[in-house]
Amino acid sequence: MSSKDQQTYPLPELSAFTRPFWEGCQNKELKIAVCGQCSHRFMPGVPNCPKCWSADFSLQAVSGRGEVFSFAVYRRTYHPAIPAPYVVALIQLEEGPRLVSNIVECAFEKIHIGMQLEVCFQEEDGFMLPRFRPLETPPVDTN
Ligand SMILES: [Zn+2]
Repeated sequence: MSSKDQQTYPLPELSAFTRPFWEGCQNKELKIAVCGQCSHRFMPGVPNCPKCWSADFSLQAVSGRGEVFSFAVYRRTYHPAIPAPYVVALIQLEEGPRLVSNIVECAFEKIHIGMQLEVCFQEEDGFMLPRFRPLETPPVDTN
């Protein structure tokens, strides 16, 4: 790794399996994979459905809403292009799959398990990354 690489935000390397997901992000669309055999919904980036192993699946855009399943505040800088502090979270999407992302636009002390979130796309070195922020208008419970 050269010193230039160390200053550049570490972006994903695209493969045949990850490219459709990341291309969706460039258009500000969050996509999940839906199995054509068993209807299981999962995060793209793998060649087969993790439930039935079928390679028959397609990507669908989702709402971008979810909630905090777990999170950690990183208070140490591990990469020079990503200065601490920042939040890494496991986010449970409304549609089922979980993904790892950052929570932004929120004071750390307000983040909690179950907090309602929405996706927002932020550019790093010309590449759009999905991150999550507090949902501005929580859904009204009519029950
Ligand atoms: Zn399946």
